[in-house]
Amino acid sequence: MEKLLSKKKVLITGAGSGIGAATARLFAAHGAELYLNARDELSLAEVVAQIQHDFPESNCEVIAFDVSDPDAVKAGFQTLFKKAKSLDVLVNNAGILDDALIGMVSAKQVERTFASNSFSVLYCSQYASRLMQRSGGGSIINLSSIIGRVGNQGQAVYGGSKAAVIGITLSLAKELAAAQIRVNAVAPGFIETPMTEQLPAEKYQQRLDSIAMGHIGKATDVANSILFLASDMSAYVTGQVLGVDGGMLI
Ligand code: NAD
Repeated sequence: MEKLLSKKKVLITGAGSGIGAATARLFAAHGAELYLNARDELSLAEVVAQIQHDFPESNCEVIAFDVSDPDAVKAGFQTLFKKAKSLDVLVNNAGILDDALIGMVSAKQVERTFASNSFSVLYCSQYASRLMQRSGGGSIINLSSIIGRVGNQGQAVYGGSKAAVIGITLSLAKELAAAQIRVNAVAPGFIETPMTEQLPAEKYQQRLDSIAMGHIGKATDVANSILFLASDMSAYVTGQVLGVDGGMLI
């Protein structure tokens, strides 16, 4: 198998579960030097142990910080700089889902969701792009969502935070292209992860019924698209939003 990320230095946020964990595993198989983020080291213990067991030659280190806290992001990137000195790929994957009908939405919920899902992308991209400029370029991949493109009832807050990710992606793609930093987003549809396990049975079935291909996606389906955008396979692709949704939009 050709390794698509040999010696590439990669930071993946929210890598302790779901899509982030699947991406970390796939990237390890493709020879990346991995820096995995979660809020605390414990959340990553299982993922790191499995990667080190299955890919003993891989370099996999933990950089724990809360992506929703700008000061913590700054400290996290200072640690990353001490360890790695440069960065080739950033996957802004960390995010939260907290649904509520608009009448029930609280200010705390709005602030927490936008801080975790949108502001985090700005802060991490700011520090990452400085590091990438030092090494002549890089790739930033942001996790948006199909809800950020088409909306959904009960998801004004989450959908707004994920639509913001698309706006951030498009602007950063324009701003950073000359520095050879590509910025793209993936917009997953309905993917089997701890995030979707929390949905009530009725909603789960409704989502399932809206998928043209007739089945829920796997975290590895999204990880494969992130690998494409991270690697030189997409060397001339920037400012794109790649749907990974089994045909929910067609
Ligand atoms: P998940 O809950 O398994 O993964 C999210 C991870 O982010 C968790 O490990 C969580 O601990 C971490 N995280 C949350 N807030 C954090 C913070 N402040 N600092 C550091 N880490 C934090 O869910 P997932 O489905 O794997 O989601 C990954 C991304 O994909 C999210 O951005 C999500 O919005 C997006 N997404 C998922 C789906 C889906 O159907 N599962 C669909 C569209 C978009």
